[in-house]
Amino acid sequence: MPSVSAQPPGLISQFKPLVTYGRRALVLVWQTSPALTIALGLLTLVAGLLPASIAYVGKWLVDSVVAAIQDDGPTRAVWFWLSIEAVLVAAMAAVQTGLNICNSLLRAQLGQRVNVMILEKAQQFELAQLEDAEFYDRLTRARREASSRPLSLVQKTFGVIQNGIAILSFSGLLFAFSPWAVLLLVAGGLPAFFAEAKFAGQAFRLFRWRSPETREMMYLESVLAREDYTKEVKLFGLAPRLLDRYKSIFRKIFREDRALTIRRGWWAFGLGMVGTVALYAAFAWVVLATVAGQLSLGEMTMYMMVFKQGQSAVSASLTSINGMYEDHLYLTSLYEFLEQPVRTTVGSVARGEQPGTGLEITDLSFRYPGSDALALDGINLALKPGSSLALVGENGSGKTTLTKLIAGLYELEQGDIKLDGTSLRDWNPRALQDRIGVIFQDFARYQWLVGHNIGAGDVRSFDSEEHWRQAAKKGLADDFISDLPAGYQTQLGRWFKDGRELSGGQWQKIALARAFMRSKADILILDEPTAAMDAKAEAEVFQHFQAMASEQILILISHRFSTVRQADRIAVMDAGRIIELGSHEDLMTLNGHYARLFELQAAAYR
Ligand code: ADP
Repeated sequence: MPSVSAQPPGLISQFKPLVTYGRRALVLVWQTSPALTIALGLLTLVAGLLPASIAYVGKWLVDSVVAAIQDDGPTRAVWFWLSIEAVLVAAMAAVQTGLNICNSLLRAQLGQRVNVMILEKAQQFELAQLEDAEFYDRLTRARREASSRPLSLVQKTFGVIQNGIAILSFSGLLFAFSPWAVLLLVAGGLPAFFAEAKFAGQAFRLFRWRSPETREMMYLESVLAREDYTKEVKLFGLAPRLLDRYKSIFRKIFREDRALTIRRGWWAFGLGMVGTVALYAAFAWVVLATVAGQLSLGEMTMYMMVFKQGQSAVSASLTSINGMYEDHLYLTSLYEFLEQPVRTTVGSVARGEQPGTGLEITDLSFRYPGSDALALDGINLALKPGSSLALVGENGSGKTTLTKLIAGLYELEQGDIKLDGTSLRDWNPRALQDRIGVIFQDFARYQWLVGHNIGAGDVRSFDSEEHWRQAAKKGLADDFISDLPAGYQTQLGRWFKDGRELSGGQWQKIALARAFMRSKADILILDEPTAAMDAKAEAEVFQHFQAMASEQILILISHRFSTVRQADRIAVMDAGRIIELGSHEDLMTLNGHYARLFELQAAAYR
């Protein structure tokens, strides 16, 4: 995994990447909104120039007042400078308001943009990647601060520019007093800056190391607060245990945070004092020069103001630079995520070389990423259109894995699966998906309208009520849907107002209907699609499927032999291999594994 340098940056290395950070921030805002970028740029320039102008006008104001005192009575010059000063201060307030407005507008747009970038990228990954814990961490990290960090980097970049302009214009004024004064101004802020830089790096490292713990906390939160877990959490009395774990992780994280926060605070205070000493040394210097008659009273006021504000500008820009470092580290993890390679070898074939030949699986073996054991081990199987196959075997024998590979959810490793004579590796993923209708055991229960839950099976007909109805009829769902209060427009799930809950069997019918949305699909995969139905209903569903599927390939996973026996062929799986293959009659005659299991289940019904 590419790692972000966690070393606190030195002086040179601190300033060099600034250009990179700044450029990245500017590109991001520019892409988000060119108009806002221009507005921000102009306002920043003006906001940078105004403070020195105000100080300069202040000098003329004080000197004109002193002159007026000596001449007895206010003169026009006093009123003139006073009005100019008032106008400048008002302008400063207006510019600040403008900057705030720009930032608020940018916040919404930038957060949305980055979130969309992350979500779009997440769609490009393979299932295998999404199931990987480290990958998931990266995704979580990227999402967690997507709406705050990029904006913060942009704000700080403009902040540094604004303060930079201010410091330059202050230095211009100070230079007339003494070049050493300029040096004193800048040097006073440096110690605090280095302390900040050191701690910013440490804080980020903590944040990164902690990903697994944070992930566990988020997981516990969802188990404790999500409706689909509450039943078990309550019944088993899990809550106190889970809450304890949740609290103890927090305590650990907090201990580390507290230590860092306290250390950071005291260092900031101590080194900040250096700045205060520098400031008062400068004041003393200016006062002495005034007493000695080298400076007018107006100049003294100006220099004092310039010192005070200049020092604030120095420390503000240095703090911003450190913050930029932290934000930049975040953006680095974001880009690390966005630049993560996706499967590049996407096939382009939309039609097989030998249409009508069906599925052909040769020497197929598969291992899940990060796992030692083979989930599939040397599978050979041919499936002609119009035939059905039932997969049976113990849990973990590889049945679901085989169907997931056929559905193209994982990249093939060893061996091959051909559809119509062409390897799945060469098929265009979209074209392949059109050919396959799947229902998995853990099918999704979307909290949408009933119709959309069915329409999800084919995005092109997502909104088409006519297609929903056809699919629902095939999936045997039409009857109960018609009895719902708003029919296909009924809202499902509790997240939304008036949402209805369905029974397990009803959900399964919805899932069946969803699989039928792909009217062109000629491979239907049913992974225990009817577990929540009774045996009779399941047998009916399967007969119904077989009757419809004269040109289709039907693959069924079931533990019910009353259904399984109806399939043309049955494959018995064990530890990733097919150990028996044939029709019900063949396998009964063979009197092996299948026959034993069948007898066992039949005996239970007698
Ligand atoms: P079945 O459908 O026959 O119950 P599976 O195909 O689900 O079996 O599982 C086959 C093997 O692969 C099991 O040993 C299981 O632990 C493993 N396995 C299944 N899914 C994953 C996954 N997403 N990641 C890693 N291993 C998995």
